Formats: sequence, C-alpha cells, structure tokens
Amino acid sequence: IGLGEVVCLGQNEIHGLMEMCWKEGSRDERVREALFAHANEVTRRFFGNKVFYRGLIEFSNVCQNDCLYCGIRKNQPNVERYTISKKQLLSIALWAHDNGYGSVMLQSGELNHPARMKYLTDVITAIRRETVLTNLEKEKRHRRHSNQAEDPAIDELIEEVRSESFIGSDPRFKDKGIGIALSVGELSEADYRRLHEAGGHRYLLRIESSNPELYSKIHPPTQPFAKRLACLRLLKKVGFQVGSGVMIGIPGQTLEDLARDIVFFRDEDIDMVGMGPYITQEDTPVADMWQAQYGHVDKKEHMAEMFDLTTVLISICRITMGNINIAATTALQAINANGREVALRRGANVLMPILTPTQFRENYQLYEGKPCITDTAEQCKECLNFRLKSIGKEAAKAVWGDPPHFYQHV
Ligand code: SAM
Repeated sequence: IGLGEVVCLGQNEIHGLMEMCWKEGSRDERVREALFAHANEVTRRFFGNKVFYRGLIEFSNVCQNDCLYCGIRKNQPNVERYTISKKQLLSIALWAHDNGYGSVMLQSGELNHPARMKYLTDVITAIRRETVLTNLEKEKRHRRHSNQAEDPAIDELIEEVRSESFIGSDPRFKDKGIGIALSVGELSEADYRRLHEAGGHRYLLRIESSNPELYSKIHPPTQPFAKRLACLRLLKKVGFQVGSGVMIGIPGQTLEDLARDIVFFRDEDIDMVGMGPYITQEDTPVADMWQAQYGHVDKKEHMAEMFDLTTVLISICRITMGNINIAATTALQAINANGREVALRRGANVLMPILTPTQFRENYQLYEGKPCITDTAEQCKECLNFRLKSIGKEAAKAVWGDPPHFYQHV
C-alpha cells in the first residue's frame, strides 16, 4: 500500500489492527508507528496542514432525555439549567465570524418542543443573515477601495438578505457568512427539514455504540437504539452533512464492538466522525457500572489507555474512510493536556474551540475534568493557535470546512 492511500478493511482486519496497535501482549510498536504515519499522510493528502475550526456554543443544558452516562441528563442532580438568549447566541456567532472561524456548532441538551424549534430557526436565520451581510458589505467596500465599478448584483443580494424572505439555506449564499453545524439530538423529519432550510447544513448525532445491546444498557428504555439509527438516516435523507461517533471505554464494550463501530460509520456513509473516551461523571448510573467493572484498576492509567485507544481508532477511521472530517474532541484533552494535538497528528483534522460564555461552562459538565471551563473564548483561541503551531499545522481561515466526502467519495 502506498503511503497516503485509503485502504478498505473489513471488521476482522480492523479488529486485528487494533490488537496489534493497542492491546497489551499483542502490541507491535512498528505496526503502531506505521498506522499513525499512514493516517497522518492520508490526512495531509486531503487537507494539507490545515485544521478546520468549529466554534462550539453549548447554548442550553436543558434536556428531556436521561442518557445514563451524561452530566446534563434530565435526572442529574445539582445542575443549574440555562438557555443562552438568542441575542447573546447571535453575538457569539458574530464574534466567531469576525475572528475567522468558518463555522459554529450549536449544541445543547434535547428538547423536542415547538418553542425550541422557533428559537433555533430564528437564531440560525439571524446568524446566516448577519454574517452573509457582513461578507457582502465587505465585498462592496473592497470594490470601492480598489476603484472597481459598483456591482448592482451585490446591492441586489444585500437587499435580499435584509428582506423578510431571506432563507439561510439559499444556495446563492453557500460558503458566504458562517457555516452552521447542529448537535441538538433526536427530532422528527419535519423538524430536521426546518433546521436545514433555515441554514444548518451539518449535524452531529453520535450513535454512542453501534451495538444495540450495549446501547440499551446505557440508555433508558424510552430511548431505543432503533430511534437513534432512524434519526441518523433521516438526517442524511434531509440533506445534512452527517457526523456520528461513539464513546470509547463504555463499561461492557469490547474491541470487537469498536471494530464494528468503524464499519458502521462506513456503511452508514458518515461524513464526519467525533469520538472520545467515555469519562465518568458522578451521580450517573454508568459511572456506577464503570466502578463495578474497573474499580480495582488505577483510574489514571486506565484513562491514559482509553485515550491511546481513541487515537488508534481515529487513525483507522482516517485510513479506511479517507476524506471525511474527524474531530480531535475536547474529551481527549480532559485526559491528556496535549490530547488534541496528538489526535491531530494521528488522523484528526477538526478542532472545536469552546465559545460558550464562561459563566455557563460549569453547568455544561458532561463528564469530570472537562477542560477550559474557566477560560474565555479569546483565551481558547490564542491557546489553540499556539498548540497548532507546535505541531506544524494551522487553522484554515474563514472557510466552512465541509468534509470533501460529502461531495466526493474516496
Ligand atoms: N443532546 C445531544 C445529543 O445527545 O446528541 C447533544 C449533546 S450530548 C451532551 C453530546 C455528546 O456528549 C454525546 O453524544 C455523548 O457522546 C457525549 N457525552 C455525554 N456524556 C459523556 C461522558 N460521560 N463521557 C464522554 N462523553 C460524553
């Protein structure tokens, strides 16, 4: 296999590779190094040294679901619930646009309610309108400053964007303004359509585990696996670029499960993958399950192994799926201070700096030790730019950063 080539692997081969690259006893350092080098080369082939940024805005922790591992689930004690005002959310997105972020990710707990839909469609339309306008006005100023003739077509577009009939998904404004990714859970097809029409074009819904039996152990019976899977497929049907992912190190999970997860991403034609280690959170049932299975081991060491396994999986996803987007998730940094940089050298190409206002961050604690909860967006930006430089990569400025896989399968 030539360096940088995408390789088609079946479940057994993926399983074998994981054993050779990670499992104590069968681990082979040379294979492991070759895997990481190959993954990095495939990444370089499709993305050069560029990393796509998504400004992550955790706009609400109100949740009607009770995922048994999550720190903001409905029945989690001691969580102060919040929803950021539409005005504040818009101003954060405008800050992101002004600071060269190509897209934002709006994430929250789940709330299947007409008021939440109105909130979302209003805010998506406003973000698209304001950021597209900023771009068009900049274009107009640029023409004026470079002594080019006024372009009536630009004025016409500005009129349209300002009008009531503006639709955020209008293809004429593709790649203009800021791109919008959503991660707001399981909704109906009609609601997904509304969000897509308003201008959301990317959606992240993790399958958490593609093994239905394991899934049912970490969710209540009211949240069946079949529903999650149906939603992922609806998102594709509606036209979103679809992201999914799993947690790594769920009690009861095997390497075989994880190998099947990768095959699942490929079979479901996923455009973006966001995986992270499962991290315990106090007062959640899955933390008790974890304690029962792993209570006797050194937790720090165990988490370091889960971190390492996550990066092995990232590498395998990259070499088997080629031109998808893969996130270096925040949970990686919770375990290893340089976790996201390591992931970016092993196949990841997306970073999600947290832009949630500092005052809300401590109430969006999905798991223990979530990093950056006392930082401001400005500090996160500086810190990440520095971290990228240290590994010879740089942020791709002001591009949406779509996964090429959405347009062309490799
Ligand atoms: N409610 C939306 C959903 O479920 O898709 C979006 C928000 S949800 C909090 C985002 C992701 O956080 C989940 O998909 C899950 O994988 C992750 N998460 C929650 N609790 C976690 C934990 N204890 N450790 C690691 N990841 C966790």
